[in-house]
Amino acid sequence: MPKKGLIERLDSGVVIGDGGFVFALEKRGYVKAGPWTPEATVENPEAVRQLHREFLRAGSDVMQTFTFYASDDKLQNRGNEAQKKYTGAMINQQACEIAREVANEGDALVAGGISQTPTYLNGLGKEAVQKEFEKQLKVFVDNKVDFMIAEYFEHVEEIVWAVESIKQKCPGMPIAANMCIGPEGDMHGVSAGECAVRMAKAGADVIGINCHFDPDTVLAALRLMKEALTKAGFKKHLMAQPLGFKTPDASKQGFIDLPEFPFGLEPRILTRWDCHRYAREAYDLGVRYIGACCGFEPYHVRAIAEELQKERGCLPTGSEKHGQWGDGLRQHTKPWVRARARRDYWENLKPASGRPYCASMSKPDEWGVTQGDAMLKQQAQKTTDEDLQKLYKK
Ligand SMILES: [Zn+2]
Repeated sequence: MPKKGLIERLDSGVVIGDGGFVFALEKRGYVKAGPWTPEATVENPEAVRQLHREFLRAGSDVMQTFTFYASDDKLQNRGNEAQKKYTGAMINQQACEIAREVANEGDALVAGGISQTPTYLNGLGKEAVQKEFEKQLKVFVDNKVDFMIAEYFEHVEEIVWAVESIKQKCPGMPIAANMCIGPEGDMHGVSAGECAVRMAKAGADVIGINCHFDPDTVLAALRLMKEALTKAGFKKHLMAQPLGFKTPDASKQGFIDLPEFPFGLEPRILTRWDCHRYAREAYDLGVRYIGACCGFEPYHVRAIAEELQKERGCLPTGSEKHGQWGDGLRQHTKPWVRARARRDYWENLKPASGRPYCASMSKPDEWGVTQGDAMLKQQAQKTTDEDLQKLYKK
């Protein structure tokens, strides 16, 4: 029997996305923070495959190809060695094969993914940016992915170009468009609501937000998007793929501006119970594509699937090893731990950080640098010590 497509699934129920490959694989030692090395699909395919499997087991309905930042221009940025060995097409091809293999082990769909480009930050214009996208899109079309996700765009101008390219090069494929913005809108000052309307006008079928902010912030911004879409007469499905980190103190640029990014974020990680609340609040807001981004591990996705058990009519395979709301603790040896085998205990727990000198909030960097600023331009050479000295002084 052919698998049901994305829109059909969203029309009749809820779709659960997968988690953050870049952060998860970095922690496992297969991805380097900085260039975020998507060549892991070629260098360590078994690690990528295993993570897909864990998300599938946790309840993900979508295997998103691990192609984040796998455009040729990104591969040659700031001394990145990858482009000497691989083309973006090679990395994307391998990512498609791995995602399809695992998707077919269950009922999951494969989504191809493109993201923002250094070419855009360099101010090289629409034609050059779309050329980068189109090289990636060719691989996704050849591999017949089920739908496309344009994600992690900070500027609505660039995501509109991305959606237009997908529409043109991938005829008939549903398009999900996700910006990495919060309630303050994009980096050029376009409001969140206006961003959503422009994505809809460009032809996106599913509209949402990924990365940069925690579930609370993402849902607050999605509420603004929903209002603006309704007002403009659009009826589109909404999508959320937030961070697995708490970011109430992040400013417009999201967690990138937090001093803990990217190596000290652990005290901010969501608990599985936070994910229950996120799934419920997203569903109640009308979001039907409920997924995740950086920081989300398979057990977080399993919590989403468990919260939405009634709506989906099933539990994920991964729940075989997880009693609902702590139920498995009935089998614990210690009586005080057995006493925690109840929903209200975990639902109301305020977990301590164990760090007495750790503030609950940080002060974001807020350099306010974005597209149009010389400091963001791409260069082929690695950053020198001298360059760094200048940055330290800023
Ligand atoms: Zn992310």
